[in-house]
Formats: sequence, structure tokens, C-alpha cells
Amino acid sequence: MARIESQTAEQDAMRTVANLMIAAARTAPKARGVDEIRTMIIDGEDLEILARAMEDTAPGRPEIIANGLKRDAGNVRASHCAVLIGIRGVPKKPENPFDCGACGFRTCENLLKAREKRDASQDFPGPVCAIASIDLGVALGSAVKVAAENNVDNRMMYTMGVAAAKLKWLEADIVMGIPLSVSGKSPYFDRG
Ligand code: SF4
Repeated sequence: MARIESQTAEQDAMRTVANLMIAAARTAPKARGVDEIRTMIIDGEDLEILARAMEDTAPGRPEIIANGLKRDAGNVRASHCAVLIGIRGVPKKPENPFDCGACGFRTCENLLKAREKRDASQDFPGPVCAIASIDLGVALGSAVKVAAENNVDNRMMYTMGVAAAKLKWLEADIVMGIPLSVSGKSPYFDRG
């Protein structure tokens, strides 16, 4: 009979849940059936690389973001793995466009032209199609639902996504990070 220590079992559980979160993001509904979602699991030494990138991004930022980057870097270090979910912000089927105007442009073609002059110094250089942003929200909701249903502590983090985007780990215009933890007290809330 084998004995599996709790730490090993909890690590395995988190990786299983992370895998299921990735699957949930992939199968989440996508506008017009066009999938521009990008996903990745981070663990091991890449968590430290991400945490350092978050801290390195803080100087010169507005205080609220700088403080969040530094605080959330500590959360990433306290995590056992993390899920990244991003989206390419291009309009769906531009050959047969919606031209809905939600992005602030009259046509999808105008947005595509504006994307040619993006400011790479921004966290998430836009513009992005508003319909694609909705897809990202749906995918994120589907993923964290899986974590919650499996009692794995998690939190959606803009700050993680900023650092992951700077590292170019995903081919995406907007990225959000979801660190995962199994412990007696969630590290992601009541952080002081
Ligand atoms: S949000 Fe903009 S790019 Fe997206 S479908 Fe509407 S007009 Fe086109």
C-alpha cells in the first residue's frame, strides 16, 4: 500500500484543477464560433520569474497599480501554480463584419487600422474588439467556476496578466492571471 503525503496530493489536485480550468476556458462559448482565447499553466520556477516581472513593472506606475503589483507578487510566490488566460482582440470574421460600434469605432476595419498604431508601452495595447473582450470574460468565469467547484483557492489578477504580457508568454492582447492555492487560509483575501 502506498502512502501519499498531503502536500503531494494537494499539488496533484491543483494541477488537475488547472488542467480542467484550461479545458473550461477552451470550451466556453465564443462569439461567432471564432476562438481567439490563449491559455497557459505556470508552475515551478516560472512562478518566481512572473513574480519578479510583476515587481519590476511597478516603478513609475500609478500608486494603486504599483502597490497591487508588489502585493500580488507575494501571492504568486505563495501559490502552487497559476493559469493564464488571454485573448487576441481582433474582430471576428472581418470579411463579414458586425460593425457594432462597441469598441468606439464605426467599423471593424477602422479598429483594425487603429491597431497598426498601438502604443506598446501600455499594459494591454489596444484597441481591442469589445466582442473579444466579452469572450475573455466568459472564459475567465468558466475557469474560476471549475476552481471554486473543486475548493481550490483562486483569484483573478490583472497584475499577473500585465507581467505575463510583458514577458510575451501568450500571443494575446489582454491577459489575466489566476493563481491557485490549497492551504488552511486563502492567501488571496484579507491581505492587509
Ligand atoms: S466591437 Fe468594434 S471591432 Fe468588434 S465587432 Fe464591434 S465594431 Fe467590430
